[in-house]
Amino acid sequence: MASHASNKLDGKVGIVTGGASGIGEETARRLVNHGAHVVIADVQDVKGRDVAASIGSHRCTYIHCDVADEQQVKSLVESTLRSNGRLDILFSNAGMANDVKQDILELDIPALERLFAVNVRGMAACVKHGARAMVAGGIKGSIICTASIRASTGTENFVDYVMSKHAVLGLVRSASKQLGAYSIRVNCISPGAVATPMLCRSLGGVSEEEAERMYGSHSSLKGALKAKHVADAVVFLASEEAEFINGHNLAVDGGWV
Ligand code: NAD
Repeated sequence: MASHASNKLDGKVGIVTGGASGIGEETARRLVNHGAHVVIADVQDVKGRDVAASIGSHRCTYIHCDVADEQQVKSLVESTLRSNGRLDILFSNAGMANDVKQDILELDIPALERLFAVNVRGMAACVKHGARAMVAGGIKGSIICTASIRASTGTENFVDYVMSKHAVLGLVRSASKQLGAYSIRVNCISPGAVATPMLCRSLGGVSEEEAERMYGSHSSLKGALKAKHVADAVVFLASEEAEFINGHNLAVDGGWV
């Protein structure tokens, strides 16, 4: 069961997509520690239920939701409203990387389309339905999307992933303009490399320690970037401490980019 770090999110209700693992899991824990009730949405049902149970069932629940399916996203938001009465925070974080290297000369277009269905279409569906619930409820909500340092830089590989994260920036910049009129803020965070299951898989199945070693020199700070560093930035953007920050891309990369 989580102990409260502060009450700055007391009474708030949040959704965390991709909350069964990595950055999403850590963020769900920290949002609850700051007083929020959190609904974790993911496709990894066993892991998602375990995470919710370890946080405490009175403050955190799990719902299966494949963000690539708009109907499932709509149901996620409706079910959150039914159980909790409101939606204040949406952390739209679910994402994937292709395990195959995607360079432009050999670009696997069907694989690109599958990735876009999650990272781009899914992200847009979450922002759409989360924002609709906030507008309808008159909630001055906070929407935070997970972009990446790859939203502002290129690589010779993973072209599809880089393209998808640039699209997240476009979504945030546009949605924030429209939703500002409703006092709903839309921002994104751009992590550097965090040794989560996704990163370790995309590096060919390396260990967490190996992934941290590979990226250790990219940051200008000593030590490894951890999911907790990203989660703290999300808590900040979700809270009233960030009440006049809108359309912003917050890099959490130790000064890499
Ligand atoms: P992770 O694999 O630990 O977590 C990703 C979660 O998203 C998993 O639980 C997975 O089941 C879930 N997910 C994947 N597809 C989904 C779908 N269709 N519907 C619902 N849930 C789905 O990886 P992570 O590194 O914590 O990734 C979280 C986000 O952070 C992603 O958007 C990723 O692109 C982004 N990111 C990661 C890094 C990094 O270095 N780890 C850097 C920058 C950005």
